[in-house]
Amino acid sequence: MHVVVLAGGIGGARFLQGVRELGVEVTAVVNTGDDVTMHGLRICPDLDSVMYTLGGGADAERGWGRTGESWVVKEELAAYGAEPTWFGLGDKDVATHLVRTRMLAAGNPLSTVTAALCDRWKPGVRLLPMSDDRVETHVVTGGQAIHFQEWWVRHRGQIPAERFVFTGAAEARPGAGVLDAIASADLILLAPSNPVVSIAPILAVPGIREAMVAASAPVVGVSPIIGGAPVRGMADKCLAAIDVEVSAGAVGAIYGSDLLDGWLVDETDADTTVEGVPVRSRPLWMSDTAATAAIVRDAVDLAGLS
Ligand code: GDP
Ligand code: CA
Repeated sequence: MHVVVLAGGIGGARFLQGVRELGVEVTAVVNTGDDVTMHGLRICPDLDSVMYTLGGGADAERGWGRTGESWVVKEELAAYGAEPTWFGLGDKDVATHLVRTRMLAAGNPLSTVTAALCDRWKPGVRLLPMSDDRVETHVVTGGQAIHFQEWWVRHRGQIPAERFVFTGAAEARPGAGVLDAIASADLILLAPSNPVVSIAPILAVPGIREAMVAASAPVVGVSPIIGGAPVRGMADKCLAAIDVEVSAGAVGAIYGSDLLDGWLVDETDADTTVEGVPVRSRPLWMSDTAATAAIVRDAVDLAGLS
């Protein structure tokens, strides 16, 4: 069996820990809309969250970056007054970004660079950037567009977002291997990642959503919203910005019945309906790998594959 998972950062990484427990071939198509260049370094927050988490090197408490991190480079940059001072990069993390930036500068596509970084981390699943082309999520606020990272990290998502724009998405091509993975999948899962800024950018790359709809594999999504609130993160602020209710049903509806063959919601949302989509409820807290693996097995079952 080959399972393809669309994933963002933290929620995606935790979910993939459960998918990996299936012991089958797994390909993760990861959001790159959060990617940004700071201090001359190319930073891929979601790819790194997934790579470090699955590779056993992530700081789960902080929620990003490496365990046992030190901050000498950050302090030295601050001493120079080097902007942006609001974006932290740990020393170990800097090494990852130096390798990535150098490989990209030498002309390698992000997919090749990601595979090279994964040679070290051995995440146990194949990580594919959604695109090798540059796509950046921008937040329109107060009539101007700022990078998603600036909105989220610098402003803590506190200034109201009017909408999200996936700059470059319309011209972007699916990343190397993405369409082949979707076409050869037996099952496609949408991780309980942020629907607005993690999954939507992936679906905005022309060809990816179409390939999923056309694929023979069933597509099953897992709700990131439990009882009207995101478990962690800012999905509530993002959904509010696009005038979508913060509920499991509303998120299922934005994916739509043309895409979804099943929608898994939490037991507290058992009364959820999504027109044209079979909905099943069960506990959706990814409290540990065993709990997450049980969620994944139910998603496989909902797809009719167990
Ligand atoms: P980010 O890119 O780091 O923000 O991570 P993702 O987009 O992959 O995941 C963030 C989403 O994961 C949030 O919208 C949360 O609601 C969701 N999430 C986090 N933990 C859990 C969990 O235990 N269960 C469920 N169902 N969703 C979760
Ligand atoms: Ca992200």
